[in-house]
Amino acid sequence: MSINHKYDSYILSKEWKIKRKQALDFHGDFCSQCKSKKDLHVHHKTYANLGNEPMEDLVILCRDCHYVEHNPYLKVQEELKLETQVQTKQSTLGSLLMFVIIAISIYLWVGLLRIR
Ligand SMILES: [Zn+2]
Ligand SMILES: [Zn+2]
Repeated sequence: MSINHKYDSYILSKEWKIKRKQALDFHGDFCSQCKSKKDLHVHHKTYANLGNEPMEDLVILCRDCHYVEHNPYLKVQEELKLETQVQTKQSTLGSLLMFVIIAISIYLWVGLLRIR
């Protein structure tokens, strides 16, 4: 039996319904990524223990985050988005530092003028 077939029949089973409920109780009924409480899915980090998975193998994800989890291309896009955000933050910090340096030099310059 292929893992996909096994997964399909398991996901429809009564055992999974119970396990799914336990996972929501254990991890909390919100998405572990974005904290959304809508359209929650229980995602398998690994299928190695399918049918007898410990709670650590399961993760609560909303429909959107789950979709991203199963689409590596989208995941890369998300990571790129995050990296761009970090870069923008760094450049804001850069210009702030620049401003401080300019302010200090003006202050020093004014101070020199006063001495004269
Ligand atoms: Zn999944
Ligand atoms: Zn989410």
